[in-house]
Amino acid sequence: MSLTVLEPATEQVLAELLRADASDAEEAVALARSAYPAWRAVAPADRARLLHRLADALAERQEDLAVLEARNVGKPIADARGEMGMVVDTFRYYAAAPERALGDTIPVAGGVAMTFREPLGVVALITPWNFPLTIASWKLAPALAAGKPVVLKPAELTPLTALQFERIALEAGIPEGVVNVVVGPGSSAGARLVEHPDVAKVAFTGSTEVGRSIAAGAAQTIKRVTLELGGKSANLVFADADLEKAAAAAPYAVFDNAGQDCCARSRIFVERSAYDGFLELLVGATRGVRVGDPADEATEMGPLISAAHRETVSSFVDGEPLFRGEAPDGPGFWFPCTLVEATNEDRIAREEVFGPVAAVIPFEDEQEAVRLANETPYGLSGSIWTRDGARALRVARAVEAGVLSVNSNSSVRVATPFGGFKQSGFGRELGMQALEGYSETKNVFVSTD
Ligand code: NAD
Repeated sequence: MSLTVLEPATEQVLAELLRADASDAEEAVALARSAYPAWRAVAPADRARLLHRLADALAERQEDLAVLEARNVGKPIADARGEMGMVVDTFRYYAAAPERALGDTIPVAGGVAMTFREPLGVVALITPWNFPLTIASWKLAPALAAGKPVVLKPAELTPLTALQFERIALEAGIPEGVVNVVVGPGSSAGARLVEHPDVAKVAFTGSTEVGRSIAAGAAQTIKRVTLELGGKSANLVFADADLEKAAAAAPYAVFDNAGQDCCARSRIFVERSAYDGFLELLVGATRGVRVGDPADEATEMGPLISAAHRETVSSFVDGEPLFRGEAPDGPGFWFPCTLVEATNEDRIAREEVFGPVAAVIPFEDEQEAVRLANETPYGLSGSIWTRDGARALRVARAVEAGVLSVNSNSSVRVATPFGGFKQSGFGRELGMQALEGYSETKNVFVSTD
């Protein structure tokens, strides 16, 4: 059975691949399992060196990878370049980890107790189509640093950079069997990885709906699971903020990656006293978003990932929106930047659209802003715009989300933890925290009697 990979900006076929099924997933797990003893035995400094070599090899191929990712996802080439830079940085960051896997010594009666961070065995990485290699790297790098072999199952729509990665890893000297990529449907290849008794952990990024089935499937074998799921994040704009700056930045916090971003600040809450003025600035800034050919260096937003996804996104806009931007005609899964005035109870404010549609909602005061921001089953990210430093901290502490930013919409960095509260998942990626998800703590007591 074959798998056809399309280019979303042209609807042309980009690649025809073999479609992996459950038996291919099993084979990959067997390969990873056989590579495990040798990989975990590699001395920490040698594993660090291998990860640096892998980062160098990725840096050498950065432009090719960016072009491939841009074509496969339909994302602007400038964004894809930035993302591939982050992939390289992620491997460099975790290359420092093998030699810093420190434990504790704990004074206890009759001897000494000490802790070790031990790798678990094979880990399955299941990833989505919106930031294919970037999100995979957030899992690959700490897993490899912690001495675990991996089986990566990328999304069927965007598997091309993962396949390139598998080759690059081998060329960089990562031993055979340590990195295995399986390209197949979630319902067969993915589900088998989740059930497999030889998989010790599943690191998943995707929708909350699939995340639920992963958690249930993993329960059968008490697998470790980390879940990075959906979001419906709030962009809270107070009247005392730098409104021009907040309005200029707000469109990019929703429409970047055509809104297909789990961190999209797709609920823009604005304090009532500044509402009308802010709306004017927001519409002006949204009109300026350059939508078009992803290969053009000036493009800021490309098409959606697929025809089916465009249908879903369209279903959120009924009636005349506050603002609808321009998008190319002809082939490609295009959808314009769209602003809709809403209440927090409307479907558009409750469900993840995962497209370039933002809900704009007024609020009366700080208390109401926090209440509305938290009235969602999700809790991934969000922003707070105010010139009042005490309020910024108060609100940041009160909002139930894992990743927040003040007077900025940027909150994803290699060195800082990333992950959700509530139904946006659990566990953390990036930063030193990610390493905790790829090892177990072992406590050893040595008697001195
Ligand atoms: P998805 O949940 O449909 O698929 C994600 C991955 O899971 C794919 O590789 C898919 O093949 C696989 N899968 C599907 N069913 C499976 C099953 N039964 N068993 C095992 N694997 C299965 O998500 P998507 O449509 O690819 O991505 C969009 C979603 O991802 C959005 O909800 C978005 O918010 C979320 N996301 C979250 C983060 C985050 O870090 N929190 C980041 C990016 C995307």
